[in-house]
Amino acid sequence: MGYKDKMATTSWGELKKSLRASVNEHNYTNWIAPLELLSLREGVATMAAPSGYVGTYVQRHFEDEILRALTAIDPAVRRIDFTVTPRAPREEAPASAPAMAEKATAESGTESQAQAGADTLTSGVSSAAPRSTSSDALSMQDRMLQPAPLDPHYTFDSFVVGKPNELAHAAARRVASGGEVEFNPLFLYGGVGLGKTHLMHAIAHELKASQPHLNVVYLSAEQFMYRFVQALREKRMMDFKSLFRTVDVLMVDDVQFIAGKDSTQEEFFHTFNALVDHNKQIIISGDCAPNEIKNLPVRISSRLSSGLVVDLHPTDYELRLGILQSKVAAFRLKHPELEVADGVLEFLAHRISTNVRVLEGALTRLFAFASLVGREITLELTQDCLSDVLRASERKITIEEIQRRVAEHYNIRLSDMIGPKRVRSFARPRQIAMYLCKKLTSRSLPEIGRRFGGRDHTTVMHGVKRIEELMNQDAQIADDLELLRRALEA
Ligand code: ADP
Ligand code: MG
Repeated sequence: MGYKDKMATTSWGELKKSLRASVNEHNYTNWIAPLELLSLREGVATMAAPSGYVGTYVQRHFEDEILRALTAIDPAVRRIDFTVTPRAPREEAPASAPAMAEKATAESGTESQAQAGADTLTSGVSSAAPRSTSSDALSMQDRMLQPAPLDPHYTFDSFVVGKPNELAHAAARRVASGGEVEFNPLFLYGGVGLGKTHLMHAIAHELKASQPHLNVVYLSAEQFMYRFVQALREKRMMDFKSLFRTVDVLMVDDVQFIAGKDSTQEEFFHTFNALVDHNKQIIISGDCAPNEIKNLPVRISSRLSSGLVVDLHPTDYELRLGILQSKVAAFRLKHPELEVADGVLEFLAHRISTNVRVLEGALTRLFAFASLVGREITLELTQDCLSDVLRASERKITIEEIQRRVAEHYNIRLSDMIGPKRVRSFARPRQIAMYLCKKLTSRSLPEIGRRFGGRDHTTVMHGVKRIEELMNQDAQIADDLELLRRALEA
């Protein structure tokens, strides 16, 4: 019991309840309710499950959901390690030995064997992460520069490339090839869940494989701060600084985190400069461009912009579909019985937001559900099982947006689109915009009419009808509509 982190346990109780809503009652009772959170540190949550099987199952099916919930306690959490609850009376044979080891160590207070126990139960997830042997045996120096573990799934092979991320991917590949340092730093930025961390880990994996002698260090900015503060507190700043001297490639994820944290950002700046001076490769990620990071001194942000800055754009339909297809293919390698009906992935790619993490979470839940009920994933099952996700990511397209896009597309002024002129070159785009408003928003005909310069609802109705006719006769109009619809729904 002494091993448990009391605070984490308390908040876990609350979080569990929030999961109840997202995984449905049955899954909750069977899989989530029995889990206990033992500790949460350095991005790794250690959880106790009543059996190895439960641990593996939960990992496979609910890891994303749980991770998402856990970010409420620790935004940097990235992985869950499962151990077997020590007091579980019935135990499968292979799991009981580590469980016993853990029980012993839980009392003696060292983590090493407990960790070993945990490792045997994680489905290979932790193998790539360099692990401490025993935290007590580590010197302060070692402990402070333990790089954050890398996720073995985040490789270039599993990264799907599309228009929105092709530049970032190409830049990451170039840096990963480990040739001469061409751009320093490489700064990757983009919204949540677009693949920044994935790309950084992929670079690290690649470099470690091709040049094992390189000291590649990956850290979140938060971990950088944590280690720095710890060094300050323990009056070991010299050690802290010397740690970075041996680094060949430094990656700092989510740098926006340290903006405005004065002494940490200063220290980061020094570390950064020292490494760049020695021609060491640096890779940084952030949630926006360097000059847009709030509270970051210009001197620092301009230094961050001095190499190559590339952004990951929000995903588009094709990329989302590609990612879904690749995840399904990977899943089917292990579960060939999984059947996905035609149209399901297209539906998801169409309906779920740009954040890939949400997309993956949806798929994970769908797989779990399909395996529970033992049947093919149909469109209907998808809608049932994901109704909350689908509702949450429903994007509201506005009438203004449609009018603006259509006007742009046909190269006319917005005032002409809405105004009274009836010449064909304005009237046709106007009808197209009306049609799209009817199809893509939930606005009523009178409401749409009002927003088109106070026109009557019968005018809108006529416009919609006309476009429906033309769609089938005029390939150009059909193409335009398709293009506009995609642009609006992207
Ligand atoms: P970020 O760090 O930008 O918030 P992550 O790198 O953590 O995003 O990505 C979120 C999830 O989406 C991860 O599980 C990642 O593997 C997956 N992902 C993102 N982009 C892609 C992609 N292009 N191909 C495959 N998986 C992706
Ligand atoms: Mg990230």
